[in-house]
Amino acid sequence: MFQKPKGTLDILPEETALWQSMEETIRKACENAGFNEIRIPTFELAGVYKRGVGATTDIVQKEMFTLYDKGDNVEMCLRPEGTAGVVRSVVENGLFNEALPLKLYYIGPFFRYEKPQAGRSREFYQFGTELFGAQSASADASVIALAADVLEKIGIDSELNINSIGCKECRPKYRKALCDYFESRKDELCDSCKERLKTNPLRILDCKSKVCKAVAENAPKTVDFLCEDCKTHFETLKTGLNLMNIKYTVNPKIVRGLDYYVRTVFEFVSDDIGAQSTVCGGGRYDGLVSELGGPDLCGIGFGMGLTRLVLALKAKEREGKISLPKAKAPKIYIASMGERAAQFALGMTEVLRKKGIYAECDLCERSLKAQMKYADKTGAKYVLVIGDNELDEGSAELKNMADKEDRRIIKLDEISDIIERI
Ligand code: ATP
Ligand code: MG
Repeated sequence: MFQKPKGTLDILPEETALWQSMEETIRKACENAGFNEIRIPTFELAGVYKRGVGATTDIVQKEMFTLYDKGDNVEMCLRPEGTAGVVRSVVENGLFNEALPLKLYYIGPFFRYEKPQAGRSREFYQFGTELFGAQSASADASVIALAADVLEKIGIDSELNINSIGCKECRPKYRKALCDYFESRKDELCDSCKERLKTNPLRILDCKSKVCKAVAENAPKTVDFLCEDCKTHFETLKTGLNLMNIKYTVNPKIVRGLDYYVRTVFEFVSDDIGAQSTVCGGGRYDGLVSELGGPDLCGIGFGMGLTRLVLALKAKEREGKISLPKAKAPKIYIASMGERAAQFALGMTEVLRKKGIYAECDLCERSLKAQMKYADKTGAKYVLVIGDNELDEGSAELKNMADKEDRRIIKLDEISDIIERI
């Protein structure tokens, strides 16, 4: 017997109703905010991520699944995140020529070679948005508002943390102060962070090791180094969030993993999950489009981990706080006795399905008793029992499974009209 690869998840039918309803909520919210779906490949040339995520990030250095094209031995990677691929597509297809801002969203699987644990898998689902061509802090606020709206509608309690990590102008000064600080406490840092000190010192603030976290506690804060423009941008963002009644905390330790983030970065964290509590992360990436060969087009977006949301929702259901969507039950089960009746049931089921009504009949040649048991198990709302007598008389008794008193004789040629009405 085979087992699924390490770190992957089977999403079984009992859970897919929840996924579908979550995705419906997302699509509706995106539609209402003018975001259109984009579907891009699940793998790209490695360079897309090396340049688009950053060569010094954990994602690129440790977490990519790499494969080689059999033909020309070109290096490719399963997508570890959405932004780089979307930007590649926007550039390649010239979408930046359309009316701006360009607003896109995606839902799909992503792949990272990580140590699997609850809320951290090697294949996981993300919903993400990207908004291109709007410099204003209002654009940041509206993207954050969309994430908040989706989380609330899905039923996740979360807290929003925001920060500004400055821009090309002010970041170097900050980086210098940060390096000086960490250099003075270098011996306390983990091995990865000692390395990060040379390549990507901001990432030390993001390290999950307890010791590094403690050292980072007193590190200089990005917000104290912002230039006038970045300061104004950050203040305007806060005003926008206040205006929209979105609660937030300014958290100076949020720096985000991608190299190309500027100014606004944010994360939503939820108490509903265990250790892996970040359900959504995003930020502004003004240099990314040109980095990937496109025009000088700014952007802001986020990625939301759907796999973590499902964990949170299931935990809430176990605690009796919510009830989750279940698979749809048939509106009618047409039970049959005998060959003729079975044929009739099959035909009628098809008529009803064509009308958009979920109908079921026996496909296992079961006894009437077993059919009734099955109908009950599926949660069918109505049952119609057909035998030779019913066929000859042209009528049968329709039973409401939830109300034993509710029984009525109906004409067989009126079944579909009646079922449609009730
Ligand atoms: P973390 O710090 O938890 O590793 P990250 O910063 O690497 O997160 P992002 O790249 O911001 O994650 O991805 C956005 C969201 O996708 C995360 O907030 C999380 O909800 C989800 N996510 C990321 N990696 C995984 C994974 N391996 N398994 C499940 N969900 C994930
Ligand atoms: Mg990660």
